[in-house]
Amino acid sequence: AAPVPAADSQASAGARYLDPRAPIPERVADLVHRMTLPEKIGQMDQLALVTVQGTCNWSGGALNDACLHDVLVDHAAGSILSGGGMPPQVNSPKDWADLTNQVQNYAITNSRLHIPILYGIDAVHGHNNVLGATMFPQQIGMGATWDPALEGEVEQSTQRAVAATGINWVFGPVAEVARDQRWGRYYEAFSEDPVLTGTLAAGAVTALQDGTSGTRLAASVKHFAGYSQPLNGHDRVPADYSARYLQDTVLPAYRQAVQAGALSVMADSGAVNGIPVTSSHYLLTDVLRGQYHFDGVVVSDWSDVRNLQTSYHIAADYPSAIAEAVNAGVDMAMEPTNAADFSTSALTAVQRGLISQQRIDQAVSRILTMKFRLGLFEHPYVDASRADAIVDNADLPLARKAAAESAVLLRNQNKVLPLGSTTHKLVVTGPNADNMANQLGGWSIGWQGVPAGTSVPGTTVLAGLRAGAPAGTSIDYQSDPAAAANDLRTADAAVVVVGNTPGAEGPNDQPNPSLAPDQQAEVAALQATGKPVIVVVIADRPLVLGSAANTAGLLMAWLPGTEGGNAVADLLYGKADPSGRLPVSWPKAIGNEPEFYTQLPGTNGGTDSGYSPLFAFGAGLSYTDYSIGTPALDRDTVKPDATIKVSVPVTNTGSTAGDLVVPVYAAEPVSQVLTPPKWLVGFTRVHLAAGATGTASVSVPVSLLAHTQGDINGDGHPSVTPGSYTLLAGDATTGTAFTVK
Ligand code: BGC
Repeated sequence: AAPVPAADSQASAGARYLDPRAPIPERVADLVHRMTLPEKIGQMDQLALVTVQGTCNWSGGALNDACLHDVLVDHAAGSILSGGGMPPQVNSPKDWADLTNQVQNYAITNSRLHIPILYGIDAVHGHNNVLGATMFPQQIGMGATWDPALEGEVEQSTQRAVAATGINWVFGPVAEVARDQRWGRYYEAFSEDPVLTGTLAAGAVTALQDGTSGTRLAASVKHFAGYSQPLNGHDRVPADYSARYLQDTVLPAYRQAVQAGALSVMADSGAVNGIPVTSSHYLLTDVLRGQYHFDGVVVSDWSDVRNLQTSYHIAADYPSAIAEAVNAGVDMAMEPTNAADFSTSALTAVQRGLISQQRIDQAVSRILTMKFRLGLFEHPYVDASRADAIVDNADLPLARKAAAESAVLLRNQNKVLPLGSTTHKLVVTGPNADNMANQLGGWSIGWQGVPAGTSVPGTTVLAGLRAGAPAGTSIDYQSDPAAAANDLRTADAAVVVVGNTPGAEGPNDQPNPSLAPDQQAEVAALQATGKPVIVVVIADRPLVLGSAANTAGLLMAWLPGTEGGNAVADLLYGKADPSGRLPVSWPKAIGNEPEFYTQLPGTNGGTDSGYSPLFAFGAGLSYTDYSIGTPALDRDTVKPDATIKVSVPVTNTGSTAGDLVVPVYAAEPVSQVLTPPKWLVGFTRVHLAAGATGTASVSVPVSLLAHTQGDINGDGHPSVTPGSYTLLAGDATTGTAFTVK
């Protein structure tokens, strides 16, 4: 590594950058002015603690000095990350806080200018790396809630937990649209729809970065941009998008999340249209800075600067790869190991004239700005003695509520649900009935999910059904399918909890995401008894169900987290009303992938767009029934920059209270370029007492009617075409017409 000057208390005495009253741009300019080139390059380097020369370990409540010296002095790293499951030896909240305090203290006291570090982590469904932390539903489940306010509460809880452990940077939310169920990271996205995704992602950014409780975190909108539709469904395989699809479908949700004020953005590991995103000046600078006016930090994803040389072969050596990335707009390189030695090679790149000093200063200024914005120079440490109390089992009622809102009831034949007082004996079975790890999914303690042998707190479906069983209902749990089918003959109903097992990223790619044949057979054997069978799916994506698609009851619970079992029990026993709605399409066959509701019209007969899923985007039942009327608009002629106020009459026609999700779609009956039969432009949730009538109010910005026009082959700029449109609510196929002038 390049030599970095030793710590020197004189170097900073009385300096302007240490004055908390000085404006941030002045503090940054003053500090950058004092820094040497190796110190600046160090700030651009994000290292992990565990793999550096294999020397970092945590024992007796301390990190070894050689490790800290290597990372924080020799490499002068400006940031540390703990990727999924790293470092593995640290589990309790207090341990985490002790660790981050030590790292922070080492960085501050051993750097000449006493610069604190950014510590980043993947807290993507609660503070999920920490044993004892409450885990919320994964993003796909939060997408099914269609509830930005709830998403905000969940992220505020996450913010409190993360801050309590001294971590100041969260690698989330994910703003990808989920459009291919084969992809291993499908469940990390909220939805297939840009507006649902963007609204929830923007809410997540705002809540994660909400500093009103005193500690401010940075969110990182990821993975910018276009990560979610790798050509063959495998993670980190290139994606090809037409200019129109990129502009109209892929980019808008990122834009919404970034413009919610995200302090950082993580670059997509993949390549888009033949250019690795890590080296895409178009995406990282022209779009992100030029169009979105983003002024925060762009961090690469895992080893991706190096990958420009070693995987993508667009650079002959590491210094050239660094130059490609930095000149495209990457400010910080995520270097999980320092084996490649970013600092030495970045220095070489500058010396060779491949990167200008000016660009280095710009990147460092952005990184330091983030540190000042987070208040790290004033408050670098956390009170470790409070960490356990803040993190342990925090907000369990919120986790239960989120899990209940996220579940989607897809079949309820003869109103088999909720289970009533006539259910005296309930058989519970299936591989996911009593499996906490499967209920949490990937990114839970470990990268690929809870490591074998680790026990995490939480309530499984079996435990929830037992705890919540009404008086007079007995639970007969059978882990053996044959015994379950046998018992069902003398029971009233069966709950069979099926699904898949945890995974993340490439190892979790599934060319054939279907319910395993043995699980289909298990469901079929239960059905053969003639008794009502309720299938609960705990899985990271819709699975092709085969013979299990026709049971009396079907509830999709996704990866519901710590309180998932209690939430499922609340729904099955009727203590909560199912209100989740599918945020994605549920395919009949995996050969239909990618399948999404905004497919464009074709001439292949059948439905207009050939969209023919098992369950459509937005599908979901409640225990009560609703009717959604035709939207009334506050005007019938609008300008392209206006916002329409839409009022949708809604009635709860059933006999129990509940929440209703009301989606509002737009359609353009005659268009110059192909437009989908309908696309989401707004949504809300309303609570309605039994028999009650109300109005769902939704604001629809006319800008959401924009499509990229013309016969294009390059950069596209969506715009709204004047003409006739309609707005439709719920499942309606006819709506209310209006004109854009
Ligand atoms: C993932 C990112 C994650 C990073 C750090 C990468 O492999 O793609 O989503 O933030 O690791 O754990």
